[in-house]
Amino acid sequence: MTIESYSQNTQADWTYDPAPQSVEHVNIHDSYELFIDGKFTASKSESYRDSINPATEKILTKVAEAGVEDVDLAVDAARHAYEGPWSQMTASERGKFLFRIARMIQERSRELAIVESLDGGKPIRESRDVDIPLAAAHFFYYAGWADKLDYAFPGRQAQSVGVAAQIIPWNFPLLMAAWKIAPALATGNTLVLKPAETTPLTAMILADIIREADLPPGVVNIVTGDGDLGKQLVRHPGIDKIAFTGSTTVGKDIMRALAGKDKRFTLELGGKAANIIFADAAIDQAIEGIVNSIFFNQGHVCCAGSRLFVEESVAKEVTQKLRERMETLIVGDPLDKNTDIGAINSIDQLKRIQSYVEIGQQEGGELYQSSCILPDTGYWHAPTLFSNVSQSHRIVQEEIFGPVLAIQTFRTVDEVIEKANNTPYGLSGGVWTDKGAKIFKVTRNIRAGVIWANTFNKFDPSSPFGGYKESGMGREGGVEGLLPYLNLTTNTR
Ligand code: NAP
Ligand code: MG
Repeated sequence: MTIESYSQNTQADWTYDPAPQSVEHVNIHDSYELFIDGKFTASKSESYRDSINPATEKILTKVAEAGVEDVDLAVDAARHAYEGPWSQMTASERGKFLFRIARMIQERSRELAIVESLDGGKPIRESRDVDIPLAAAHFFYYAGWADKLDYAFPGRQAQSVGVAAQIIPWNFPLLMAAWKIAPALATGNTLVLKPAETTPLTAMILADIIREADLPPGVVNIVTGDGDLGKQLVRHPGIDKIAFTGSTTVGKDIMRALAGKDKRFTLELGGKAANIIFADAAIDQAIEGIVNSIFFNQGHVCCAGSRLFVEESVAKEVTQKLRERMETLIVGDPLDKNTDIGAINSIDQLKRIQSYVEIGQQEGGELYQSSCILPDTGYWHAPTLFSNVSQSHRIVQEEIFGPVLAIQTFRTVDEVIEKANNTPYGLSGGVWTDKGAKIFKVTRNIRAGVIWANTFNKFDPSSPFGGYKESGMGREGGVEGLLPYLNLTTNTR
């Protein structure tokens, strides 16, 4: 089956007509260079890496790979800008640049959404309605803080940290870049950003926006490459602060590399969130919440509700309704506005998900997959539900980062709190109930950075986000998101 004929891709007795997003006005260049010191610059090694569309396996373009010399140039440029024009500028002038970038992201939002979906495989509905608007919102939000740091931290003087290295993953490429760049600039730092190797393209459009916004050269530098480039950046002596979002494994590697060094760092890592449904919840709404929390965006969400806990008395009903809803989910062309589940980001990630599904079966889990027909080319995975699993199963303990849900039951509030906390992670969670008291009891006792009540995956730039336990340290978003980029001293004025 081709991705265009996806509308047959459901057993329901109705289908949507295809509603493909036109890509005519999007101009992807033949190649992209590094963005260093305000200019697009060829890499010294002259090597390139293909960026592919995971829905078609076709090459979209090639992107320069930065080497050691390029990293030195980028860090030097950031240092010069930090000691030069950027620190001499008034805070309100700095804020104007952030406002300008925010507006330009809005102006180019359609192009950015399409490129995000082409490069990363996520449904256009999500890139259009979530990723890009939230990226602009982050720049707007932090633009407002630039000249108000004295009010954010009364009685203390806020000074920037210096040059930041920022390393981001592939699941929300532009949004993660905005989460990192906006607070760093608002607080007067300069930076070198490294996007993930499979999704560099919206960062390259952002580089173009930054150039057009006339940001002083060197304030933002964007270097592309793989994990080795990330390693180099973390270990570079010219870096004062590292902001990393990615896996817990790499987060631990970064902590080891920084042990004993005078460098600031924040780590936003993996998750294995519990989504808890009580019998008194509005079940149909909860079903939509479950689907949103684990199946949309292919489960490529750090805060995905990948462990579902259902109160025993409604477990049968919830499982049945969930299966029925899974059947109606449309898997296919990311550029179609009806698509719920797009392409898995890379062949490596697809293999990882498939291997966990095998492990789940070997461990005795009962598998249910929707009967959707997957396209022949590209990387796809059907929405998958495991029941008959227990706390010790690997698919219940380990992050899969795909559309795979494990369902368990509980009888009491205390039992479900204990089960929900039985994980090395603590990024997020969800609770569905009609009773406020239960919401407060659950949210107070689950060790996770964010817990949604009767909703899931709601984000706002003014809310801090971050993990407990092995989900990381430090917060991004909100006033708290300014702190990692500041040294606060007592104000003696
Ligand atoms: P990853 O493998 O850890 O990669 C993240 C970034 O780090 C990529 O840019 C990667 O480069 C780079 N990298 C790889 N090895 C490195 C090293 N040794 N030193 C420094 N940088 C290195 O994670 P991923 O698979 O891309 O992303 C999925 C993970 O991110 C999941 O665990 C998810 O939960 C987590 N995540 C967390 C949050 C949060 O806010 N807590 C948000 C989103 C995602 P290449 O990709 O180019 O190799
Ligand atoms: Mg790609």
